[in-house]
Amino acid sequence: VLKNLRARLLDRGVDIRFQTRVERLVVQDGRITGVETTAGRIDATRVVLATGHSARDTYEALLSQGVPMEAKPFAVGVRAEHPQALIDEAQYNLRGPRPDTLPPADYRLAHTTDVGRGVYSFCMCPGGMIVPTATEPEMVVVNGMSSARRSGPFANSGVVAQVELADLVREGFGEGPLAGVEFQRALERKAFEAGGRDYKAPAMLASDLAAGRFRPVLAPTRFRPGLVPEDLRNVLPGFVVGSLQQALQRFDKMLRGYASAEANLIAVESRTSSPVRIPRDPNTREVPGFSGLFVAGEGPGYAGGIMSAALDGLHTGHAVLLALNATT
Ligand SMILES: Cc1cc2nc3c(=O)[nH]c(=O)nc-3n(C[C@H](O)[C@H](O)[C@H](O)COP(=O)(O)OP(=O)(O)OC[C@H]3O[C@@H](n4cnc5c(N)ncnc54)[C@H](O)[C@@H]3O)c2cc1C
Repeated sequence: VLKNLRARLLDRGVDIRFQTRVERLVVQDGRITGVETTAGRIDATRVVLATGHSARDTYEALLSQGVPMEAKPFAVGVRAEHPQALIDEAQYNLRGPRPDTLPPADYRLAHTTDVGRGVYSFCMCPGGMIVPTATEPEMVVVNGMSSARRSGPFANSGVVAQVELADLVREGFGEGPLAGVEFQRALERKAFEAGGRDYKAPAMLASDLAAGRFRPVLAPTRFRPGLVPEDLRNVLPGFVVGSLQQALQRFDKMLRGYASAEANLIAVESRTSSPVRIPRDPNTREVPGFSGLFVAGEGPGYAGGIMSAALDGLHTGHAVLLALNATT
């Protein structure tokens, strides 16, 4: 998809500059006139920022230029890794291996805790692998992916609890626009420390967290940097631990063996969606006070996942076209 998209863009005369970071906006009298990049200035009357939810340096640069920004709720937790055979047996109600006629099973689980906090499985990857996805040094973040055939021996999924703005205040991160970013960073640093400071990830058995105990043993894993057995109750905030514990007990009833000793919980799954929103006019999609500046996709808080980010990009492209047509 990406190769074809790139070829089409190049065909249409689009100039793609890899390894070129936007560092500052150039603004005159409330109107965008270009961007400063690591390869010099680019003049432009319209700029679309679609920098994704992990461009923390870009959030900081935009904030320092007065771009409006606010903290928004997101979710954090762990990535659960099970034998694919366990998921297949539970989902297809099998008493043995899955026949070739059936695809590797997936699942989607959700639970609301007794205090009303949402916990849900996220980005479930049948036959997939867990990958390290930190974007800053001395931090550990995990995510998951499947290859097209989904043929690996493990299934993995995020299991995450909702983080509200009141949680950020209670945990000491304040009410600022980047409170959620700082909360994520603190968790990711803690995971790095707990993993022994060499990019291994801290992990524990799902059965242990569900039962409120810890034993220094782990199930087999496909996480390449490696796992370190660690009591995740010392890594994750108490409200996340309590929510995950309740949810695991429930999930175990919904999917046989979910919270068994065959499953690892690996920390930390902290980049589920953007912890920041950059407001935009609902019609023009421009940022208030910055005429000609458009924001799109997951980074400014308008998407969660590939499809919604792509659609938001498409609609934002239309908004840019309308703005250009209005001035010609
Ligand atoms: C391992 C992994 C697996 C995933 N699996 C799935 C899945 O199965 N399904 C799903 O729906 N979603 C999945 N996601 C999430 C999905 O990738 C994102 O939701 C989606 O890519 C968001 O699209 P976006 O265009 O908003 O931002 P991104 O795709 O993050 O793109 C942002 C781009 O902006 C660039 N950038 C950032 N700052 C600057 C700057 N200052 N100057 C210039 N460029 C900059 C970045 O380098 C990046 O190329 C996964 C994510 C990961 C990490």
